[in-house]
Amino acid sequence: MDSEIESILDALSVAVFIVDADQTITYRNSASVSLFGTGLRNKKLSHFVPNKRCIRAVDDVLDGADRQSVDVRLQLVVPTSFRMTAVSLQKNATRDGASAVVSFEDVSHILEAEQMRTDFVANVSHELRSPLTALYGFIETLQGPARSDQQASDRFLQLMEREAARMARLIDDLLSLSKLQSEERYAPTEKVTINPILERIVASLEPILMKEQATVATDFGADLPDVFGNVDELTQVFANLIENAAKYSRPDAVIRVASRIDDKEPEMVRITVTDQGDGIAPKHIARLTERFYRIDKGRSRDKGGTGLGLAIVKHILMRHRGRLQIDSEQGTGSTFSVVLPCAR
Ligand code: ADP
Repeated sequence: MDSEIESILDALSVAVFIVDADQTITYRNSASVSLFGTGLRNKKLSHFVPNKRCIRAVDDVLDGADRQSVDVRLQLVVPTSFRMTAVSLQKNATRDGASAVVSFEDVSHILEAEQMRTDFVANVSHELRSPLTALYGFIETLQGPARSDQQASDRFLQLMEREAARMARLIDDLLSLSKLQSEERYAPTEKVTINPILERIVASLEPILMKEQATVATDFGADLPDVFGNVDELTQVFANLIENAAKYSRPDAVIRVASRIDDKEPEMVRITVTDQGDGIAPKHIARLTERFYRIDKGRSRDKGGTGLGLAIVKHILMRHRGRLQIDSEQGTGSTFSVVLPCAR
């Protein structure tokens, strides 16, 4: 093969093979070696693609058919999805003299993204449908059996208000998430002082804390350096974490909110929210920031949760070039730590 063409093929991230009339590999580019390993030259394609549809498609091309594409999942080091495309290298050749170029494009990330999008749409529809179904139910009852029962009407209207508020919160959270995702690449550039933000949030959460019978004990580090941040977004982060600590703690629990320079990374500020709840099993911890992931759906719903709070926290912290750390001991409680780079 012409060395220029060979260099072009080696520059591609797609695995490219040339096979002869009996599907023996006569050429493979560099990407094919990284994906499938060495030692493939002079082997048959079926040696590492044990898939009848792929082999038939390549056969068809070698017999003169137009370009063929087949999606295939191959068991490499990890299962990987590929789009295989085969094209004949000759026009009007007999089968004996035929050869074909066969490429494998790794499409795993595209399929995963598509699956995530489908799951997300299904989740959003489900989450919106449940308060809506409840609202329809109450409307029907108010129009029928409860029409002249003032007490029942008042109670149903209150429940309807709660369901409508849940829908509104869900829509607000979805809009927040989508806005954050579109802005994630741009880190905030304003300097922000953390402790007054924390003080304001604790004061504003008083009604929720009273409802959940929780109190907050604060320990704010003196001379804490500023961080680069957006006040509204950081308010959303800490309010979410303190609200969660109150919602998922036992009654009369004390929530500790502290800020300090990080012990191990002096260029970072660490803000911790520690609760005295049931704690979180390790298998849940890694998934808590996924959208709509809840350990106990019923409990989250009773507390008016949307299942999006920690996903929003994660995205805000990514934009702030910070991170969230979750440590938990079952039966004792959890600590949610926000680590943010200092602005100095
Ligand atoms: P939600 O609206 O359900 O509270 P979040 O995204 O804020 O959604 O939290 C996701 C899930 O993580 C919650 O449903 C709950 O199961 C769990 N969780 C969050 N914070 C805590 C906490 N402090 N203690 C125990 N579980 C928690």
